[in-house]
Amino acid sequence: MRADRSERVFVAGHRGMVGSAIVRRLTALGYTDIVTADRSELDLLDQRAVGAFFQSTSFDQVYLAAARVGGIEANRSFPADFIYQNLMIEANVIKSAHDSGVDRLLFLGSSCIYPRDAAQPMREEYLLGGVLEPTNEPYAIAKIAGIKLCESFNRQYGRDYRSAMPTNLYGPGDNFDLRMSHVIPALIRKFHDAVTSGAAEVAVWGSGRPRREFLHVDDLAAASVHLLELSRESYWSEADERVSHINIGTGVDCTIRELAESIAELSGFDGQLTFDASMPDGTPRKLVDVSRLAALGWQSSISLDDGLRTTYEWFLEHQLGFRG
Ligand code: GDP
Repeated sequence: MRADRSERVFVAGHRGMVGSAIVRRLTALGYTDIVTADRSELDLLDQRAVGAFFQSTSFDQVYLAAARVGGIEANRSFPADFIYQNLMIEANVIKSAHDSGVDRLLFLGSSCIYPRDAAQPMREEYLLGGVLEPTNEPYAIAKIAGIKLCESFNRQYGRDYRSAMPTNLYGPGDNFDLRMSHVIPALIRKFHDAVTSGAAEVAVWGSGRPRREFLHVDDLAAASVHLLELSRESYWSEADERVSHINIGTGVDCTIRELAESIAELSGFDGQLTFDASMPDGTPRKLVDVSRLAALGWQSSISLDDGLRTTYEWFLEHQLGFRG
């Protein structure tokens, strides 16, 4: 059964890297009734405001892409913000969606929900099988709560709330801040600045040995819409009441050193890479198992080389916005 693209869809978090990619994808697929709300119009931390917003318009589908996100240092510096804001956004949006009769919702989380020492690649059922990585535990707990909110509304009220857990994301619209961002935008900025200033060294945080899997945000958006467009029967043929989320990834990972070398080459930097052992490595490896996603008919199509190149180009076009 083909999805009805005239349905009214609310994308929460449309200014962010993920939400904006989902809006682009929905638009490209011919969705005609996409609703978004700027922060000045709707504060997702405000329970009453979110409730009133959902009561005033009826939505057929909701993408919950709004979140407080950041890299390893942002998580370490602002643990209270990461757990509180994410819990509030999820609780407000999911409960208000339910109260206003929304039956279909996709909640977006992160692969950091899995135990730090989980076997690799990480299968969906490994959730809650062990201790989390301490550098992002508050964020991970909030994202696990989001999955459990969806599952609980499904179980108690028969809703069809789905969850997608993407691996590390990157792409246009990312945050290129040097301290608070994730590794790809941080390294793009560092190498670019080094080339511009003629610096001989670039410092990569940690040992360079952790392994990460990187997914371009346009691939994530395509996968997200694919998952929410699936019929109830199809989606729940892979997910179940207890393990209701689906991993989204490429199935391929690399070391941080290899990533840094690729970005160095793209930027034209020919100096030295140094490794700053005073900064944390975080989880040793984070690679998701994508067999459920494959069984549901989706696989990624943007290679890391292509994705890094186009993201670098995007950064060059927009970098003035990241200064001052
Ligand atoms: P994580 O997947 O939650 O650990 O998120 P990050 O994207 O912040 O970090 C991934 C890995 O890249 C970690 O091992 C970091 O120590 C490493 N890394 C190396 N250089 C940088 C950098 O400049 N910024 C960030 N955020 N991470 C870096």
